[in-house]
Parts: sequence; C-alpha cells; structure tokens
Amino acid sequence: MPWRRVNELCVNDRAYRVWVSEMMLQQTQVATVVAYYNKWMKRWPTVKDLANATCEEVNEMWAGLGYYSRGRRLLEGAQKVMRDFNGKIPDTSHQLRTLPGVGQYTAAAIASIVFNEPCGVVDGNVVRVLSRMRSIGSDTSQQKTIQHFWKVADNIVDHEKPGDFNQSLMELGAIVCTPKTPLCSTCPVKSCCRAVETATTCPNDSTDIEALDFKSDCELCLPVEKWQPSVGVMNYPQKSAKIKVQEEQFAVAIVRCRLHYILTQRPNQGLLAGMWQFPSVSVDSSSSERTMKESLSSCLLLHLNVGGISPASLDKIGQIKHAFSHRHHVYHVFKAEISDKSCLGDEMPQLMEAKWVSAEELLQSAISTGVKKIFQLFQSSLKAKPNRKRLRSVKLTSSSAKIRQTTLDEVCRKA
Ligand code: SF4
Repeated sequence: MPWRRVNELCVNDRAYRVWVSEMMLQQTQVATVVAYYNKWMKRWPTVKDLANATCEEVNEMWAGLGYYSRGRRLLEGAQKVMRDFNGKIPDTSHQLRTLPGVGQYTAAAIASIVFNEPCGVVDGNVVRVLSRMRSIGSDTSQQKTIQHFWKVADNIVDHEKPGDFNQSLMELGAIVCTPKTPLCSTCPVKSCCRAVETATTCPNDSTDIEALDFKSDCELCLPVEKWQPSVGVMNYPQKSAKIKVQEEQFAVAIVRCRLHYILTQRPNQGLLAGMWQFPSVSVDSSSSERTMKESLSSCLLLHLNVGGISPASLDKIGQIKHAFSHRHHVYHVFKAEISDKSCLGDEMPQLMEAKWVSAEELLQSAISTGVKKIFQLFQSSLKAKPNRKRLRSVKLTSSSAKIRQTTLDEVCRKA
C-alpha cells in the first residue's frame, strides 16, 4: 500500500502520510482509499501544503469518499500543526490527540507506526481477533468492553516494534481471522486461541451446555446460554443490538437553464457540511407529490430568487435512496427548465449560497455520492423515451425527417 512505502521520507512526512491514510481508511475500504490517497499526496505532499489549502478544495478532493468531516478535520489538523507545533507533527499519542479529528485509534496508530511508541491499537479487526483469542464475549459496543480491549492491546504490544506488531494484528483480522470464514487451521496464533479451544472441546449438543467452562460472574465472559455450538469461534465477538436507522425524506429540484444547473451549498456544520447539492427541502414521508412540488417551488422563490417555477412545471423523474451509517435519505427528484439565468447573481442576493454550473463543473464540485446518484437519474431521464403528448406540443422548425435523425437527448433538451 502506498502509505507503507514511506521509509525514504523524513519522519514528519512519514507521520503526515500515515495520518492521512488512517483518516481515509476509517469506514472506507482499502481498495477505494488508494486512488484518493495518491491524488491527495500529489496535490498536498506535505502537512504545510495541506495547511494552505481551502476547505472547498479539500471537500472537492474528498468528494465520493464519504464521512466528509474527516477531510475537514485533516485540514484543521494541518493548520494546527503549522500554527501550534511549528510545522512538526506531534510525536506522542497524547499530543497527537490534541489535533482535530485524531482520536485514540488514529493517535495510537501514528505514534506506534511512525514514532515507535509502545501503545496498542484497537480497530474492528483487532476487536475480532482479541475477542476470539481471549474469549471476550461481552457486548462490544459497551464502553467497559472497549476499555478492556485497549488494556489488552496495550499489554500485548511488542515494545521493540510496536508499529509492525499493530499492523500485523490488524492484518491478521483482515485476512485470516475474518468475520465469517476464519482460517483457524492455518492461523499463526491458533495454539493460544481460546475460541478455538472452546469450539473444539465444547459439546455439539446444546443440551450439554453446562459442561462449558464459562464464568457466570464475569462481565466479560460470554453468558453460557448464548454459546451456539454450530457457529464455533464465530460466537466471538458478540454483536451489539442494531440501532434503528432513521429515514429522512427530501424533495429535490434539478433546475436547468441552457445546460447549466443550480447548486446550493449546505451549512458549514452538520452532515455533509459545506458540500454542494441540488436545491432541496425536507418533506414528510406521507407528503403527496403535489405538496412536494409546492414546497420546492416556494423554496426556489424564497431562498434563491428563482421565480417562474410553478408546481406544475416541476416533473417528477424518480426516487433515490442513499444510506449513511446512521441514517437513510430518500430523495424525491423533480426537474424543471427555465430560460433565464439572471435569478442568481450579485444583484440578486439570495438566502442560500448558490451557483450555476455546467455538467462538467458539477461533477468536479464538492458533491456527495447521493448528489451524483441524483444527477445520474436525471441524465437517464433525458435518455428515456420522451412522452409523445409533450413532444407533439414542441414547436420544432425541422422537418419530420430531420427530427427522426435528432437524438433523443436533443429532442428532450428542446422540449
Ligand atoms: S485461531 Fe481462528 S479464531 Fe483464533 S485468532 Fe486464529 S483465525 Fe481467529
């Protein structure tokens, strides 16, 4: 991985690269991160370069990676390093934690990998390996259990090569001790794994469950009645109860004028802070199409000075669902065409930050994956078979033979 090929760099640049990679790898798969990481390093190869970037540039670079606050925290962290640490990234896990967005895991990873600090790390892979090796069966979402994992990780870390040890432990969880197909027969720590020991000695018949040597008075042990002989080592770790995901509904308007689209900027706080999106309003799940159109029409007029879009001129083109980790968004997408772009501009102040962009500029803007999906839906709607009734009402000067040759895209645009 590119962030591991850093030996020839000075320690500050190594710390910067591990920091960026660790931030990107939180909640995102390695395969996705590599391209973003390479692009990022080409643009901002040092912490000083990053500190001089703008939030807008960082948001654009991060677009599509999700959890956008991570990028902004990196920028704030780089600015803090330049301002408070004279450009030197702190070299202890304790001081690293004073940087925005650097929690216990990131601080321990940077400190052990770059500065050789003998501290353990705990991520999802480590939780799985340690819970199996030490047969820790309490709920992994509980603070007490998490603290115990940190204690174990700190106790077992190798003091000479803490970085190598921590990366090995995480790698073991990623490729050997996997959630659903652990490769116990070839696992290098099989001989000291309690989960394997229990799974091979426990009775197959759940009626003999009392034979298991679980301590009923221990808060970290798996309650004996929860042991399922059929899943063996996969009894660990114990999954926490699923949190009910919240679903929110939005009506979204794609307003187009001479191949340009209106984008508005989200507030600087909260979900997708500072990112760009199509004008949208929150609606109830029970809202009718008519209510959504009315809400959009008034939002466009009151917040953006975009008049002339009556509810009737908004066409529904479909619906998109987008999942965030803790909530789901449902976007009801409408489109409208206007002929005058002068509604946005310096002379026409509006309540929301907004701009006109071409399709190309739109895709290069700091937009989320959800907005990209909405735009794809819009583009597909242009390719879809046009409504015959509507087409008949379009006044085209071309002969019918010429119309047949015109692509559907063009016909739709003229419509
Ligand atoms: S022996 Fe099996 S359960 Fe134990 S650590 Fe290795 S892969 Fe995981």
